[in-house]
Amino acid sequence: MDFALSEEQQLMRTQVRSLARKFDWSYWRELDRTGAYPHAFFNTFAANGWTGAVIPTEYGGSGLGMTEACIILGEICASGAGTTGAAPIHFSMFPPQPIIKYGSEEMKQQYLPKIAKGEMKLAFSVTEPNVGSDTAHLETTAVRDGDEWVINGRKIWCSNAQNADRVLILTRTTPIEQASKRTKGMTLFFAAIDRDAIGIRVIDKMGRHAVDSNELFIDNWRVSHADLVGQEGEGFYHLLDGLNPERIVIAAEAVGIGKAALHRAVQYATERTVFGRPIGKNQGIQFPLAEAYARLEAAELMVFKAAWLYDHGLPCGAEANMAKLLAADAGCDAVDHAVQTHGGFGYAKEFDVERLYREVRLYKIAPVSQQMVLNYLGEHVLGMPRSY
Ligand SMILES: Cc1cc2nc3c(=O)[nH]c(=O)nc-3n(C[C@H](O)[C@H](O)[C@H](O)COP(=O)(O)OP(=O)(O)OC[C@H]3O[C@@H](n4cnc5c(N)ncnc54)[C@H](O)[C@@H]3O)c2cc1C
Repeated sequence: MDFALSEEQQLMRTQVRSLARKFDWSYWRELDRTGAYPHAFFNTFAANGWTGAVIPTEYGGSGLGMTEACIILGEICASGAGTTGAAPIHFSMFPPQPIIKYGSEEMKQQYLPKIAKGEMKLAFSVTEPNVGSDTAHLETTAVRDGDEWVINGRKIWCSNAQNADRVLILTRTTPIEQASKRTKGMTLFFAAIDRDAIGIRVIDKMGRHAVDSNELFIDNWRVSHADLVGQEGEGFYHLLDGLNPERIVIAAEAVGIGKAALHRAVQYATERTVFGRPIGKNQGIQFPLAEAYARLEAAELMVFKAAWLYDHGLPCGAEANMAKLLAADAGCDAVDHAVQTHGGFGYAKEFDVERLYREVRLYKIAPVSQQMVLNYLGEHVLGMPRSY
């Protein structure tokens, strides 16, 4: 058993840390206020090769694993960038996984080098207005017409679609009642976003104002057969190869946000004097922060265990889910205590922890809710009866 990062990983951590910290708290505060996309941040990370981190070397990337993706995204979040900084970068990390594993050679050669260079931005679309946690019942259909497929339906919460060039989208190609299993008969496409055939409406949301999430109204969108990823009808299973990495990197982000908030809280607790002494001298302030630190460290161990399993080609469903569960809780808890430590200033935008509070809350809901993780653990890990 080896808990140490390699020399390369430590160097990478230092490089990402210093690059991310070039964008200070005021940069993120301003983007949160205006809703402007973090282009400068994305372009800087792309120019330094980080958008190609997990793309295989033969397609222009660095061929690194999920462990390194976690280091990169964790450091981005720990710099104070929050999910506003992490999201544009993580789209170059987990949506490409099904393409890397199941895409045709032509698809890989055509798109992966562009993703690696940051020349192509991606979105990922599964959730629908009537279907969130219950993916098998999705209603968006794709019907074959010669060399093309015609897609119709509605999607919701498709993040990054305002700026993305292509979207990885899950559709139903065999009606659920005709499929051999409820999770069969779904097909994954990786297609250019045709803005004439897709109405895209931004959703006004609680946090991460600078990175959009959208409703898609898809009307006779024609995509080429060459855009089909893997095998027709097996899309749900292909997607799973993107979902575990997504859970793992999101967990790394939640830990990073918790660390950033904790850093601000410790700083404030040391400087702020009330009743003639720093508030950090009070155990009522100090203990919750110490406990939050311990919980973040424990969650991070599970993140790296899950990433290690994935990188070694081993089953990691339980660990990816547990990492997401523990990290979302630990991250939310740390930020909540950071807000409390700041007293009234915790509620002021100027002190930034309120932005992190709004951003980290997302991770208890998406990409999978805490309850659905517990359902998974109860059923698939503990072997109890399915509860729904
Ligand atoms: C900001 C944001 C960005 C997002 N980005 C994307 C994206 O880019 N692409 C994408 O495809 N999706 C995206 N999502 C969607 C996200 O993955 C879903 O919101 C999430 O999976 C939950 O689905 P739902 O919202 O439909 O909740 P529902 O499935 O409607 O569930 C509602 C609540 O009921 C609970 N619940 C439901 N069934 C059970 C049960 N059997 N047992 C216990 N509890 C249950 C859920 O846990 C949840 O708390 C995003 C969401 C947000 C908020």
